[in-house]
Amino acid sequence: MSSDTERRSGLSPDETFAILGHETRLAILSELWDLDDPLDDPDSTFERKALSFADLRKRVGMRDGSQFNYHLTQLVGPFVRQTDEGYALRRAGWQIISTILAGTLTDEVVFDAEPIDDPCPRCGGQVVLDHGTNRSPEGLLIRCTACEGNYDFPEIPSGVLMRIGMLPPAGVSARSVTEMYRKLLTWKKHRLLMRIEGVCPECSGEIAVIPLICEDHVVGDGQVCPNCDRTVEIQFKSVCSVCKGAWQLSTGVHMLQHPTVTAFYHDHGYDPWGHKWPRLATETIADQTVVSEDPLTIEATVVIDDDQLAVTLDEEGTVVDVQT
Ligand SMILES: [Zn+2]
Ligand SMILES: [Zn+2]
Ligand SMILES: [Zn+2]
Repeated sequence: MSSDTERRSGLSPDETFAILGHETRLAILSELWDLDDPLDDPDSTFERKALSFADLRKRVGMRDGSQFNYHLTQLVGPFVRQTDEGYALRRAGWQIISTILAGTLTDEVVFDAEPIDDPCPRCGGQVVLDHGTNRSPEGLLIRCTACEGNYDFPEIPSGVLMRIGMLPPAGVSARSVTEMYRKLLTWKKHRLLMRIEGVCPECSGEIAVIPLICEDHVVGDGQVCPNCDRTVEIQFKSVCSVCKGAWQLSTGVHMLQHPTVTAFYHDHGYDPWGHKWPRLATETIADQTVVSEDPLTIEATVVIDDDQLAVTLDEEGTVVDVQT
């Protein structure tokens, strides 16, 4: 067998799929994963527990020792570590099996629409948390029961104020709608922070930022501009160079990377990470302009009551200056 360090790096996706594409190998990872229970075991260390060859084979339920050895050998190195005590999960093995298990706990989320306290910012009507529909199946919706909402697209049901996506399956099970919604806001907050700070939340890869500026921006209340299909004239497109994840984020979201900006919102009674954050930019950013083309520099003014904050961002959407 080749040594652990020789085999641990440099697997291509094809090799990874080939190694994992067998139920016995997934069963081995699953049995090793079952060994650790950090919640029940206050003395657990960072070392994952190990099983001897014989015990592992028994737990997986394979009689043929040489066949079992063949499958186990495929995993040793990249996914499983061989120690004096036996076999234990490596980090990559743990990630693979926990992703598989977390992704198979629940299917589609369906529940009764639940009222939330905040009135509709458009009409003052009752707002509810709702799940997606056949026309717009992706995740939780914040929907007004009294007006037509913020979107004028045929694929989005009437009344929708915001679509906020959904937690992975593990985050959905055993939570009420309201809890799920609150955890979803937390989940989104940290993923957004990762993006605007240049780390891909899917894979931790490097993020490239492309500024998108609409030269001829025209937009009415709650509508999108016919020239750029967006509500705000300046956006930053973030693309992960590794996994191809791509997002478009406004100047208003990008400036939340700076503590002075979040403190300003907090001091004026706004929770910048609450469910109103997509509207925060349109409601509180009075002006945003390109003040220099090369290098690209953008200045945005946040105005709440009589106070204002001038925020300068560079071509990557990084805040380079804040003036009160
Ligand atoms: Zn409304
Ligand atoms: Zn536009
Ligand atoms: Zn990525």
